Order: sequence, then C-alpha cells, then structure tokens
Amino acid sequence: MNLIQHFVNGKSYKGNSNRKGKVFNPATGEQESEVLLGSKEDLNNSVNIARKAFESWSVKPPLQRARVMFKFKELIERNSEEIAKLIVAEHGKVYEDAKGSLTRGLEVVEFACGIPQMLKGEFTENVGSEVDSWSIRQPLGVCAGITPFNFPAMVPMWMFPMAIACGNSFILKPSEKDPSCSFKLAELLSEAGLPDGVLNVVNGDKEVVDAILENKDIQAVSFVGSTPIAKYIYENAARNEKRVQALGGAKNHCVVMPDCDLDQAVNGLMGAAYGSAGERCMAQSVAVAVGDIGDRLVDKLSKKVEVLKVGPGMDNNSEMGPLITKEHLEKVRGYVDIGVKEGAKLVVDGRNLKLQGYENGFFIGGCLFDNVKKDMRIYKEEIFGPVLSVVRAKDFEEASELVNDHEYGNGVSIFTRDGDAARTFSSKIKVGMVGINIPIPVPMAFHSFGGWKRSLFGDQHMHGPEGVRFYTKLKTITSRWPSGIRSNPEFIMPTMK
Ligand code: NAD
Repeated sequence: MNLIQHFVNGKSYKGNSNRKGKVFNPATGEQESEVLLGSKEDLNNSVNIARKAFESWSVKPPLQRARVMFKFKELIERNSEEIAKLIVAEHGKVYEDAKGSLTRGLEVVEFACGIPQMLKGEFTENVGSEVDSWSIRQPLGVCAGITPFNFPAMVPMWMFPMAIACGNSFILKPSEKDPSCSFKLAELLSEAGLPDGVLNVVNGDKEVVDAILENKDIQAVSFVGSTPIAKYIYENAARNEKRVQALGGAKNHCVVMPDCDLDQAVNGLMGAAYGSAGERCMAQSVAVAVGDIGDRLVDKLSKKVEVLKVGPGMDNNSEMGPLITKEHLEKVRGYVDIGVKEGAKLVVDGRNLKLQGYENGFFIGGCLFDNVKKDMRIYKEEIFGPVLSVVRAKDFEEASELVNDHEYGNGVSIFTRDGDAARTFSSKIKVGMVGINIPIPVPMAFHSFGGWKRSLFGDQHMHGPEGVRFYTKLKTITSRWPSGIRSNPEFIMPTMK
C-alpha cells in the first residue's frame, strides 16, 4: 500500500505517530493509499524547523524570493499533467476540470512572482518639517494553512505562494482525504530552490489542527473548509492571539430574471451546479426563478440534467465525476430523501445511478428539485453535491431578499439583460463575490477571494492584495536627522503648525 508521508525540512518525514488515514480512488471505491496522521509532536517539530528557516528566508531580498516563484511556476507547468492526474485519482473530478483548477492555483504563483512590486511600501517626505515617514510591510513568521478536500491543489496554492513570497515560512495541513498534491507541490517548490524548512506539509486530522491552534510560534492561520470548523478555527486561533482568516461553506444563488438569455443561464447553471459534482464552494446550488420564467427554466434544465454524462474523471466523455467518499455520497443521497419528505418536487432523481465497471464508485447522478421553499433544510443547508434547487420568486425584490437573508454569502449571480437590475443587484446584495451573467464569479489571482456572512470569519480575503496584507504586518517609521541645536523637551502632542 502506498504511504503518503509528511514533507518537512525539504524531504519526506515519518514523524512519530502510528495513526494512518485511508485515501480512496472515488471512481472505483478502492483504497489506494494510506496517509500518515501526524501527532502534536510532529507538528511542533515542524514548526521549530520552520521558525529557523524563517530567520534567513525573511531577510532575502523580495526579488530573490520572486525568482524561486518564477522557477516554481515553470515546474508546475512542466508537471501539470501529473498533478492533474493526482487530483483526479484522489478527488475524482474530471481531468480537464482538475487541470483548470491547477491553473487557477498557478495564477496565484504568477501573482506572487510580482511580490517586489507589492512590498514596495509608502514614503512621505516632510510629514513635518524635515521629518520623513515611510511604511513597510514585514513578514509575520511561521504561518499555517488548513485546507479542504475539494481543491487539493488550488486552495493550498491560494495560501503558501503568497505567504512564502512575503517572506514567511509555512506549515500546510492538507485534507487527509486527498493529500498527495500538497506533497508533490512541496517537492516542486524545493526543486525550484526554496530553502529547506520554508514550506512544510504535515498531514493529519484534528490532532494536527489543534496543535497548530495551540502552537505559540505560529503567527497566522489560514483556513478553508466547512462553516462549523471555520468558526472553531477562528475562535481558537484568535484566543491564542493569532491572525486568522477562516473561509467556510456556501449556498450560492443564481437569480434568473425573466428578461435573460435563458439558454445562457441554463448552460451557466449546468456547469456551476453539476461541475465537480457540486463539490465547489462556488457551486450554484439554488436557482431563483423570477416572475414567469420558472416553468421554462425547469423544463430546459431537466432535459440537460437527465443526459448529464457521469463517469470516472479520466474518461474524456465524463462531464461529472464521483463524490469524494462513501460517507459523503450517503450524506448527499440523504439530503435528496429529506427534500422529497419536505415536499419539494424532485424533477430529476440521480440517486440510483449505477455505472457498469464502477459499481463501487461514489457516484450519484445529477438531481434537480423544483418548488423548494426557504424553510426547507435542502434550501438552508449546504449539501455539497450535484443537487440544484429551484426556488420561485415573484419579483427582483423577493429574489434579492432571499439571497440577503441566507446565512451564507460566498458567491451569487444574476442573469439578466437589464443593466439597471444588474447594477442595483451588485450594489445591494450581501455577498462577497458577485457575477453578472457569469455563473461562477471566482476572482482572479490579482483580485482577492472571499465571501461574507458565515462564509468567512476574519477580515482579509485570500490571495491578491488582501493576501499580501494578511501575510505581512505594517511598520511605519518616522525619522529626523537633526543638525545643530534643537528645541527643548516637548510635553504636548506634536502637531503641524
Ligand atoms: P472540512 O471542514 O471537513 O475540513 C477542512 C479541513 O479541516 C481539513 O483539513 C480537515 O482535516 C480539518 N478538519 C475537519 N474536521 C475538523 C475538526 N473537527 N477539527 C479540526 N479540524 C478539522 O471541509 P471539507 O469537507 O474538507 O471541504 C468542504 C467544505 O469546504 C465545504 O463546506 C465547502 O463549502 C468549503 N469550502 C469553502 C471554500 C471557500 O472559499 N469558502 C473553498 C473550498 C471549500
């Protein structure tokens, strides 16, 4: 059985824990690997190494750090096929989607290549007479990232390239369900010239996470995962005096206005609801049909959901792969059962899908509900599977109210041809990432990614300019070089006269 180890101080590391987790191929349902589940001691040892590595890495000129990122970018490009295959093997999503998600991670590395520009600081000559002042951003120290299963390359790459380019060292605790990508990325960054100990991957579960939260030498924690765990991370990291950004779950709405190009909306919804089997934090899981468009929307959607090509991720014909684990498959099926019991109309039922040759894979077909109401659990809770709920709203105001009243606020879209409606929507809606005729409005690497409400605890979004702010602290220096005899002691606040 393949054993996935930790990556510490530039090489694989076994640590001292005997606990192991199971890693499956979701398409076959077979266990393919074991992953070490690290101990508190493994984490603390790794932090000590990262702390030492920080001393020399943090004083390297930003340009030298950027050059490592340039080389890393080249190595990712050269190894993109292998990394995408690792994503498919452990996560299950289809190959081209896996490649796309890797590219979105690579774009953060490209942004990190420009770090000298981002760290230039600000200078004011003569803030007072012959007094100059400048502000610089300095790295924090050892930072940590805890990541979810659904983007095993992209989400870690939202974090560590930014943290490292800013001069920090980093501990990455990837999802124990698909950890191989993180190991591979750490190897490549080492090959790119990153000094040993600057990036360390410690595999594990709650034990390592709690050790991260308690370790006094970790200055900042970035987290992406479900809302209950995000809240736990936020509260405990803050209690232990760490900087923290904790991104949580989602229930993204797509508002379909009666004047929209319906085919465009339907195609957008299909990709956004069923792509990656709905296991995306930016997946659209609610379509809000406004006015009289509901019947036409459901009719067009159902025809497409019925013929959705579900299959293993390496099959070129597959549009949607399996779910991550058997437990998750049962949970998603359970939600569909709940929806039926709650009285929603199940227009397309994917629960009984069986694939010849992949009978033990974690597959479910696309599911479509109509007449979903806002007090139903399938509307309120995140399902994280290929289940789209259509909710009817009489007008734009009612649709906007639904979105604003929901506890999550990650992403939202509107499909319309009315510029006034689109502008009002983007201005008033209480959601962090908004798409206008764009189904999945994931910001590019040079903007920042993050939701509102219970989709993000903390105040800085991931990567882009907010990423630089998160991984650095501001220092402002005020300086005077007096010549000749100066004034007497001053006991009042100095002000500009
Ligand atoms: P998860 O919350 O179960 O796990 C995320 C991380 O937390 C993993 O590394 C896991 O090992 C760790 N963890 C799990 N339980 C823990 C516990 N009790 N104590 C301490 N640590 C624990 O999430 P997941 O199932 O891996 O990922 C899916 C979730 O992530 C969905 O809710 C999805 O919306 C969310 N997500 C959000 C974003 C975003 O940007 N907002 C992006 C991707 C995924």
